[in-house]
Amino acid sequence: METELLRQYLAWYEDLGIRTLYRRAAAPDPLNEAVAAPEVQLPGLAPDSDTLLKITEDLVDCRRCRLHSGRSKIVFGAGNERSALVFVGEGPGADEDAQGLPFVGRAGQLLTQMIEGTAAKEGIPLKRADVYICNVVKCRPPDNRKPEPDEMEICGEFLFRQLSVIRPKAICALGGTAAQALTGTKEGVTRMRGKWYKWRDIPLMVTYHPSYLLRAYNVSAKREAWEDLKKVLHFVYD
Ligand code: URA
Repeated sequence: METELLRQYLAWYEDLGIRTLYRRAAAPDPLNEAVAAPEVQLPGLAPDSDTLLKITEDLVDCRRCRLHSGRSKIVFGAGNERSALVFVGEGPGADEDAQGLPFVGRAGQLLTQMIEGTAAKEGIPLKRADVYICNVVKCRPPDNRKPEPDEMEICGEFLFRQLSVIRPKAICALGGTAAQALTGTKEGVTRMRGKWYKWRDIPLMVTYHPSYLLRAYNVSAKREAWEDLKKVLHFVYD
């Protein structure tokens, strides 16, 4: 039954031309010397009249993929809906699932420190509440496993709509899952981090996921993530 629903949904996607969007590759960015990828023509994503409210309404009681069965709450996103900067994580964990809010657990606390600490050091008056934070998938994957490609593809539509409505000046992908969902590449985060890509025409910086940085041996990764964040904050707020 689920497979049939998924097949129908993907067919619907195809009709709308949205499937091509998910499969697109990262576009080269003048800000970044290292990225070269084929050009892909992108269809329009969502009507200009789309709003975050409409997207939440479309997600109410969502059962489009198997993740719905284990969730407590859909984690849509939070923060300043007019933000010039959007952070995209992988998917909710246990704390996020319980509260219905993104990045509220340990990784979230680190993300807050990273945003506010780096901004303060760089003389940028920015608090976590000033940016917008969301995830590739809106329901918690069981045992915090990585989202499956079909789950990312289905939920990716809603992420793309969110980004199209907010239209930030830049996006920061936290970790490989978000980076891959937004660029369509399969490259690992270690190679992607610190570089500029694009999601449609919006500059996209890739950095490590805060959960990865919480592991004790990641001292140099922490330093690199701070460098990445500095780049993105100066790009957006200078
Ligand atoms: N990890 C994520 O990727 N997202 C969250 O919201 C929390 C932890």
